[in-house]
Amino acid sequence: MSLTVKPIVGMEIHIELATQTKIFCRCRNQFGASPNTHTCPVCIGLPGALPVLNAQAIDYSIKVGLALGCDIAKFTKWDRKNYYYPDLPKAYQISQYDLPLAGPGTLDIPLESGSKTIRVLRAHLEEDAGKLNHDIPGGTGVDLNRAGVPLLEIVSEPDLNTVEEVVSYAKTMHRLIRWLKVSEANMQMGHMRFEPNINLHITQDGVVYKTPIIEVKNLNSFRSVEGAVRYEIRRQFEEWKKDPEGFSLAKRGKQNRGFDPDTEETVFQRDKEEAHDYRYFPDPDLMPVTISDEKRDGIAATIGELPLARRARYMADYGLEFKNADALTMDEATGDLLDGAIGLGADAKRCVNFLLSRGAAIANERGCAIAAIGITAEQLAGLAKLVDDGKVSASAAAKVFDAMIESGDAPAAVAEAAGLMMVTDTAQTEAWVDQAIAENPEAVEMIQTGHKKAGASLGFLTGAVMKLSRGAANAKEVQQMLKEKIEK
Ligand SMILES: [Zn+2]
Repeated sequence: MSLTVKPIVGMEIHIELATQTKIFCRCRNQFGASPNTHTCPVCIGLPGALPVLNAQAIDYSIKVGLALGCDIAKFTKWDRKNYYYPDLPKAYQISQYDLPLAGPGTLDIPLESGSKTIRVLRAHLEEDAGKLNHDIPGGTGVDLNRAGVPLLEIVSEPDLNTVEEVVSYAKTMHRLIRWLKVSEANMQMGHMRFEPNINLHITQDGVVYKTPIIEVKNLNSFRSVEGAVRYEIRRQFEEWKKDPEGFSLAKRGKQNRGFDPDTEETVFQRDKEEAHDYRYFPDPDLMPVTISDEKRDGIAATIGELPLARRARYMADYGLEFKNADALTMDEATGDLLDGAIGLGADAKRCVNFLLSRGAAIANERGCAIAAIGITAEQLAGLAKLVDDGKVSASAAAKVFDAMIESGDAPAAVAEAAGLMMVTDTAQTEAWVDQAIAENPEAVEMIQTGHKKAGASLGFLTGAVMKLSRGAANAKEVQQMLKEKIEK
């Protein structure tokens, strides 16, 4: 008996674009305001109010489409998706049905074993709905501040086959969206919401069984994405085992489920509608959109180097391992900082080490990107050169790094002020060496008698001198001097 289980996952991602105003009215697009303070007749759906397109939403969407290698439609239009829900007072959502703004394209995702290219089917624009607040005593509140916020929906092909691939796709897309600065992509604020479509292709003795497709709605953390997909794979397999013939896509259709992060389980919500249930038709209130080649090319020219290309360049040009190159391309500014310092003549590896040791530690403490800790390319390059020129020791450099972030001063000035410049003054080094010898007669004796701990003792004395000098002495020079003095 043979049995193979292959998860088939496609992903829909909703991204709230960071335009100043909403997509079809002039209300502000702002998270966290008092309920219903950013609303007007258009976005609360009063009869007779006419929508007017915000061109910025189109430009941002074109930018994302181009970054995914999509074709950009020269002609696109708006359609009404009809359904009733309390957060949608018009009883239709303005969306794009048969003529999406962008598609098809691809996104390469990193994996433990290498990488994989995921096909993107389409990207289209629509308006977000409002938000229901169930935490109000005695009822449910409706907040329409979010109604009409531009929402870009990116739909992948079902090319994802493992939990790792699904999470990597979500993370890679998140990084790209932030990089392009088209959305804050703050997951806690719901700027980016993931909806994986999951089913299994189970092959038993040559027969393929397809389980019903489950769409898990509104996941707003990578953890939830991971938990929901992991749970669905297990659940669907268990259901299938109970009834291999009956638990099938053909018999059960598609379903929507939600994810409960506390129990880490998905729960049934409703059977999934088909497109014809929404009675899509073109919106008569909005003009179709035409996009010229000039417009598209103009936006393409603003994109610059994307994170994947930059990561590959760091590996090829600076000899970085994947992990380090990846960490330095989490955001655009951190890589810009590195490139800036190298451009000023600093050694690449040394700059990388500073950024990924002290830089990453400080960023981690503050919960920010490495570039946001307050260091400039000039400071970074300056510090790297001080170490290369033998003016600051490696251990002292970490202290200079921290101090120059605090003060904003040049590394040389910081090192001088803190007495961290390597001491090339032989008389000063000799004084420290003499002091260490005087204070540690036992260690000295072990070296003189050739005790088995002689080597360790020399190391101990060197450390004592470095301590006296607060890291400013040249360790090699110190060791040489210790040997000469003790053996004399
Ligand atoms: Zn409005």
